[in-house]
Amino acid sequence: MSETPETKRELPRNPTRLVPIGSVTVGGGHRIAVQSMCATKTKDVDATAAQVADLVRAGADIVRIAVDAKGDAEAVIEIAKRVPEANLCIDLQENYRLAEILAPHVAKLRYNPGHLHHHERDKPWREKVRFLVECARAGDCAIRIGVNCGSVDPAKLAEYDKEDSISPMLDSALEHAAWLEELDFTRFVVSLKDSDPEKVIEANRQFAEARPDIPLHLGVTEAGLPPDGIVKTRVAFEQLLSRGIGDTVRVSLTVPNPRKGEEIAAAKEIIDDLEHGRTRSVVHYDRSGLNIISCPSCSRVENEAFVELAEQVRDMTQYAKTHAITIAVMGCRVNGPGETDDADLGLWCAPSFVHLKRGEESLGSYPYDEILGKLRGELDALIAARA
Ligand code: SF4
Repeated sequence: MSETPETKRELPRNPTRLVPIGSVTVGGGHRIAVQSMCATKTKDVDATAAQVADLVRAGADIVRIAVDAKGDAEAVIEIAKRVPEANLCIDLQENYRLAEILAPHVAKLRYNPGHLHHHERDKPWREKVRFLVECARAGDCAIRIGVNCGSVDPAKLAEYDKEDSISPMLDSALEHAAWLEELDFTRFVVSLKDSDPEKVIEANRQFAEARPDIPLHLGVTEAGLPPDGIVKTRVAFEQLLSRGIGDTVRVSLTVPNPRKGEEIAAAKEIIDDLEHGRTRSVVHYDRSGLNIISCPSCSRVENEAFVELAEQVRDMTQYAKTHAITIAVMGCRVNGPGETDDADLGLWCAPSFVHLKRGEESLGSYPYDEILGKLRGELDALIAARA
């Protein structure tokens, strides 16, 4: 600890501009806003509204909900009515046009630059973003440009060395920010997420250096199960928040739905520790040992057994904890295949099977009750090959 725990201090803050998001304002030195995301099926209005309400009670300033289809959009409109105190952010996955229906009902639209090419492939991305900006203006809401390591715009990836994963993310975020500004829209925040906290630190540090005026939303994506997922996130947040970088945060954890509030508690604890000088320098992310990453789950999870599987993978692989091997466990077949590419061994979950990968190579699909044995075989082979 760098000072007595009782001494509360103001964290340094970059001079970012103000971005109102419903009843909260981020940037400009405002309190760091804490976010979470629903993992229930969006179309299940009762379950999702209940989870939104739970997260608000836990202290969430902003709650994100994924929308893929018109049915999801209709559900969000009903959820917004049932939990009016929530500042809702919709996560536009591939169907960016849903923004038009939803903007008047929510506080923020999040789009991923890497997902814009999926629909209307011949339409330039700038036109699609212009549409989103028009929706946000008409609906009086903010925007988040959410760049993610596992789904960077393929056109950007092609411009850089395959080993350099930070530059394409950074370039994409800066380019989209510049375009929004050209459209005379500044009510936006940016996020650059990766599952590796060191890359999160580097990408956000470089972005903040180039654009200290734009508020950043921080997060380590697919951080995994607690407590490791919290440790990884803490590593990144401590380095960034202590340098004045970050106006909103999310701790992404693989936890069952009733425990989603733990994301909020973890984020608040990290911020509080930092404000009291409890910088936990002894907690470091050990890159020389086994690294299990798993996604925080969302409405796309098709088999609830995913969280249990992630826990079983963690327990089963303990025997290999001194080996520098990364195993990724992802909850769906939409983002799972891409998000597992950089892991030594990857699993992504479909409704009735789990797909196993070695790096980018596919090794086949297996029933849930067989996958652990197959993973064990691959892990043993990898350890033997490296020895
Ligand atoms: S990998 Fe799939 S289930 Fe997991 S958070 Fe991403 S989209 Fe949701």
